[in-house]
Amino acid sequence: MSQSYEQSRLYALRHSAAHLMAQSVLQLYPDAKLTIGPPIENGFYYDIDFGDQKFTEADLAKVEEKMRENAARHLPIVREELTRDQARDRILRLHQDPYKIELLSDIPEGDVITFYTQGEFTDLCRGPHVECTGDIENFKLLTVAGAYWRGSERNKMLTRLYGTAFESAEELERYLHNLEEAKKRDHRVLGRELGLFMFSHTVGQGLPLWLPKGAILREILTDFLRAEQLKRGYQPVVTPNIGHQRLYEKSGHLITFREKMYPFMTDEDGDIHILKPMNCPFHIEIYRSSLRSYRELPIRYAEFGTVYRYEQSGELAGMLRVRGFTQDDAHIFMRPDQLLDEFKGVVDLTIHVLKWLGLNEYSARLGTRDDEGAKYVGSPENWQLAEAAIKQACDEMGMDYEVSPGDAAFYGPKLDLIVKDALGRSWQMGTVQVDYNLPERFELEYTGEDGQPHQPVMIHRAPFGSLERMIGLLTEHYGGAFPFHLAPVQIAILPIADRHNDAAYKLRDKILAGRPGWRISVDDSSERLGKKILMNQHQKIPYMLVLGDKDIENNTVSVRSREAGDLGAKSLEEFLRIAEG
Ligand SMILES: [Zn+2]
Ligand SMILES: [Zn+2]
Repeated sequence: MSQSYEQSRLYALRHSAAHLMAQSVLQLYPDAKLTIGPPIENGFYYDIDFGDQKFTEADLAKVEEKMRENAARHLPIVREELTRDQARDRILRLHQDPYKIELLSDIPEGDVITFYTQGEFTDLCRGPHVECTGDIENFKLLTVAGAYWRGSERNKMLTRLYGTAFESAEELERYLHNLEEAKKRDHRVLGRELGLFMFSHTVGQGLPLWLPKGAILREILTDFLRAEQLKRGYQPVVTPNIGHQRLYEKSGHLITFREKMYPFMTDEDGDIHILKPMNCPFHIEIYRSSLRSYRELPIRYAEFGTVYRYEQSGELAGMLRVRGFTQDDAHIFMRPDQLLDEFKGVVDLTIHVLKWLGLNEYSARLGTRDDEGAKYVGSPENWQLAEAAIKQACDEMGMDYEVSPGDAAFYGPKLDLIVKDALGRSWQMGTVQVDYNLPERFELEYTGEDGQPHQPVMIHRAPFGSLERMIGLLTEHYGGAFPFHLAPVQIAILPIADRHNDAAYKLRDKILAGRPGWRISVDDSSERLGKKILMNQHQKIPYMLVLGDKDIENNTVSVRSREAGDLGAKSLEEFLRIAEG
């Protein structure tokens, strides 16, 4: 297993870069007050109170320049241990109250209190840091944002300065390039340009509208997954979008999930219904609808289930976090001895689909129990068995994973799926979750070989989390240029003039006769050919087939590939071979 980021030199380097930035800010804005400045996944930030002064993105350049000066001073970065009183005196002398005083009081009694100092700059800080400001060579300040002190809206709004740092100039350059690339690939922009999905203020925040091409892409995904699941012994079920309050009372979600639920609906009979935030209790009711024998298990109920969760408006992010979404959900009910095989099956299915989607870099995070046994339901023995089964399943199926103790839900260990996209960004997708709680709450049973009632184990699994999130990821991963098997439109036929339109439609029908289901458009608009090509290029369609007099006469098509450009005249058979790669 690789060493964790928190222990890496890169982490210390970014932390030191945050200090270098703070030092430079104080030189330029002596009245500024520092709060917290940690390294984060791709860089670092520092939250700063600029008082009455306004700090904008335009001011970053001069801070960055100061940083280079301070780096060039090659100041040693020195760690000191102080007593609580010394620390307090120093903070007051530096006029860094009240924030740093508050941070100081957060440090538990008995813990070591450390300051890190470089030149005239000194900061209450746990560290660690690099040795010298001269070590911080490859950095860049990026953006400015607002952030509340301690993340609470009741507190003062601070200014957050973001930056990044790397060990080598090449890594920094690649990162900055990818940032630019990511802007171009923003799925919210591409979603609209490519006619995939949109949001409407009139419809409501976080409620996506799928446009025709996006809906086709969605169907391509669900068709594939549905067929795979049928092959693998899943049974489809369909459940309603609202359910009676008693269902969620029974499941416990009324308490544990209350804040994510939309306001309840009370009808004329006084019955309360709840907009579905999750599919599980419905599937459980189906399981409970008849007596189950050990021979029937495992039972795998699958549903592309649409759920609604009230996310804070500030947390909504395009298709990545929405309020209404469809999960690729399934619940598997099994005997405890079937856990390993079922987990293997789920991991195998997940890998199979990821490869089909062209997402070849993925790993998993196994959330296990920590030592505070009291907060978990289910016996420790069962947990151990389940955790061992998940590990073995990952090992046998070739899924890389890291163990994250304490990351389990209170009701069972889980496996989170993490996908890396073409720009090297990590996306947390779905989860495979073992559950000892709901079978207990719903008193689920099966009759064992011994004729006695036993409690089944349950797995929730939605490897992709939601179709919304998966398609948001795919859009950015491919920059909208979906591979042939996923592209909503695979081939655009471009008749050069109106008189070629009939031949274009005939060509389409001829392809469809041999390749039913292929997605082919005919651009019979009266635009000039150059314009047609440009417009279809913007739609990132894998192939354009241009059709004019010569092509019709010679029984050929002029092929333009999205990647390879003009391929010249080909017979239809030749083109089909190319397209099918
Ligand atoms: Zn620090
Ligand atoms: Zn579930």
